[in-house]
Amino acid sequence: MPRQLPASMLQQDSDSRPYWEGLAQGELRIQRCSSCSKAVFYPRSICPHCFSDQLTWMVASGKGTIYTYTVAHQAFGAFAEDVPFVIALVELEEGVRMMTRIIGADRDTLAVGKGVHVTFESVGEDMTLPYFSLIEETRS
Ligand SMILES: [Zn+2]
Repeated sequence: MPRQLPASMLQQDSDSRPYWEGLAQGELRIQRCSSCSKAVFYPRSICPHCFSDQLTWMVASGKGTIYTYTVAHQAFGAFAEDVPFVIALVELEEGVRMMTRIIGADRDTLAVGKGVHVTFESVGEDMTLPYFSLIEETRS
């Protein structure tokens, strides 16, 4: 389980507030550009693909694949007691990538390209983070 993180680590602004509010409600929200239809993450006010300011919020499926990952054996501050933990770049079905953690998995079973789904972890007062778990594979 992750340690309780200090609330000062959570930086909300008008661009990211819908994202944090979604996490508190068990929704992984990302943006989509109304001009070019591409998904956008992290939260921002201008589309990085076409520079439109017509970004709207949507709820992501919460499913994706491991794009890359590493295991942290040293960490500082609030994270120090969590080691070792898995840091991953997950590519969501919608096409955006997000930095996150993979939890609940034997590290020997992790691999690039494996399917993961979001899980919402309370890490402090009014702070929920999206972590990911491996999608169970059916054995033949
Ligand atoms: Zn766009």
